[in-house]
Formats: sequence, structure tokens, C-alpha cells
Amino acid sequence: MKINPYYSQLPANYLFHDIDLRVQAYRTQHPDARLLRMGIGDVTRPLPRVIVDAMQQAAEELAHEESFRGYCPENGYEWLRQTIIDHDFAPRGIHFHPDEVFISEGAGSDLGNLSELFDRDNKVAIMDPTYPAYVDANIMAGREISFLPCLKENQFVPELPAQPVDIIYLCFPNNPTGAVLTRDQLRLWVDYAHRHHSLIIFDAAYEAYISSPDIPHSIYEIEGAREVAIEVHSFSKSAGFTSVRCGYVVVPFETGLQAMWMRRQCTKYNGTAYVSQRAAQATFTPEGQKGIRANIGYYKATASLILQGLRDAGLEVYGGENAPYIWCRAPHRWDSWTFFEYLLNRCQVVSTPGVGFGRCGEGFVRFSAFANRPAAIEALQRIQENI
Ligand SMILES: *Cc1c(COP(=O)(O)O)cnc(C)c1O
Repeated sequence: MKINPYYSQLPANYLFHDIDLRVQAYRTQHPDARLLRMGIGDVTRPLPRVIVDAMQQAAEELAHEESFRGYCPENGYEWLRQTIIDHDFAPRGIHFHPDEVFISEGAGSDLGNLSELFDRDNKVAIMDPTYPAYVDANIMAGREISFLPCLKENQFVPELPAQPVDIIYLCFPNNPTGAVLTRDQLRLWVDYAHRHHSLIIFDAAYEAYISSPDIPHSIYEIEGAREVAIEVHSFSKSAGFTSVRCGYVVVPFETGLQAMWMRRQCTKYNGTAYVSQRAAQATFTPEGQKGIRANIGYYKATASLILQGLRDAGLEVYGGENAPYIWCRAPHRWDSWTFFEYLLNRCQVVSTPGVGFGRCGEGFVRFSAFANRPAAIEALQRIQENI
């Protein structure tokens, strides 16, 4: 047996472990301190009742001979795929065949698994800083990766690659910077992909946080994107499904990859849980929409509070308007971990060091709008008093 040699090339990803260790050390020394968690990358609001009811009903169906179900279709039930098309795309003038939509257990697995469709001999471009899954999946496959710096100087929107690349990962609204792309900015990437015969993998996990009208919700709002883009969606951040698990991928026929992805899913994936698919369907009912919009509104209001509160403290902040993350520049030219430690020691506030998302994240920390509201308000007061 020979192991996959590329696993040893994975960067040690100790970010959240390191944060835990430092927080634990602080707790041991200050057992009475009340820590306020502002780094949290997971949703915190409870699910709308109508979604839980749908899951209970789906579970109940399985208890009866006449409504029992076995394996679900590998690409998901057509009622869910059609509902997604009707709700997420048709109102924007985008039309797909249901076979171009694949239901999954979430975007994390899709983003990792999609890498299987491509030869090792492809040049991959990934934003820096970034959500780590894109990098890790391509290292595991042994591919050459180039990084697209996202800096204050370019408003955290990468420049087109200087050297031609074959596969490009884009995530907008962005985790961790909260940056967004306008239609004109996204069009540059679609045109680039046409010119260079490249493929864009577009992560739309935070699409539901967009409220500005000039920000596209889907790459398919750009003409010509169907030939050059795969889009990954998740119910995790839009509907609070991080434990329920459901997402979907759009693989247009025009990419030439739809049949390959179907083949892959049929071999290696035996379908998303029936209960999760019913839960996902319930998010599209009027009551489901009301419930999830209320939760998103809550997080967005927390994001505005954090953005304003940090600004009032005199800090330099980005994002937070069409995204649940606020990207905050460390004062005094400190590095990410120095600012993290300062926030922990002086304010008892836990943030996420930006350098954990890539070299270009150095000098920043990420604040999350998924934080508990009263804790966020108190954290901001403490920061304002101590910066
Ligand atoms: C949270 C997140 C996802 C969603 O992951 P799931 O596996 O669907 O829970 C995808 N992309 C980014 C950038 C994220 O932050």
C-alpha cells in the first residue's frame, strides 16, 4: 500500500485549534472572565417552525408502509430541483433543466468532490485569503495552485491572473473578507474564462445576504457564464442548515461536465437524506421564506452594528454589508495574532485571526455577525473603551 503523497503537502490547519488553545489558556488564568465570542463561523438562530414541521412529517412518513421511502435519487428529488430553479433562478431570468441541478448534503463536500472531475495537470487559481476547502481539495489532488491576492489596495477583489489558469475558484459574497463583486466585475471573470478556456467554480454560499441591487446573486446573471461556470449553493448560511445538511450544485450542460458529475454522484453518492430534502423544500414556502428572511435580517442587523461599532472605535473595517463577516484591520500595524491577543486579553473578545485564511489575511481579524446580539453589543463597548 502506498498512501496519497499529496496529503503530506497539506498545510497544517490548526487555526481553530490554536484559537481554542489560546482561549483555554486565558480561561485558566482568568476563571471569572466572561468571554464574548465574535469569531463564530456557524449559524446560531433556531430553525423556523415550518421547516422543523416538514422534517417531522417526513420522518413520520417513513414509519408507515404506504408512505415509506428507500433510496432517494442520487441527484435529488425532482420536486426540490424544480423548486430551486423556480425560486432561485427563474425570477432572475435564468433557466435550467432540472438535470442541471444536483442536490447534495452541503457545499463543503461538493467543493471538495468537484476537484475529481479535473486532470491533475490543471493550473488552479484561488483567492487569498480564502475558505480553506478549495486549497485543500486541490493539494490532495496534487495540483499546482496560484493565489490571487485580495488586499485593501484592490478592495479585496482579485486582479485577473497574470499567467493563464485553467480553474478559478471565486467566492462572493466572500468568507472571510465580506467583499462582493458587481455585475461588471464578475463579467470580467466570465470573459476571462471564455478567452482562456478556463472553468470558474463559483461559491454562492452567502448569496442570501446580498441586499444591494447591483450585486449579482448568481454568476449565471452574467451572459456567457453557462459555458464556463459551475455554481455551488448551500442552505447552511441561508436557512440555518449547518446540522440539517443540504446544498446544491448547478452544472450546466454547456460546460460539458453535467454527465460526468452525474456519473460521479451515482457511483460515490447515494442521495441526500429525504428529511433534509423536505426541510430544504420547506424553506421555499411563504412561511419558510418569512422565517429564514427574518433570521438573515437578524444577522444582517448584527453585522451593521458590528461595522458601525468598530468604526466608532476608530478601526478600519470592510465587508459586513452584503455578507455576515466584517474584516477588520489591526491597529498600529499589528499582525493578526497580536490583535487577536489584545482583543482577548484587554476586551475578553474572541475574534478570528485573518492570517489563518491565507498569507494575505495577515494584519486583519474577522468578526462574525452570527455572534449573539447582546454579546456583540457588549463586545463593541469593551473594544471602544480599550482601543
Ligand atoms: C459555510 C460555507 C460553505 C457551506 O458549507 P456547507 O458544507 O454547505 O455547510 C461553503 N462555502 C463557504 C465559503 C462557507 O463559508
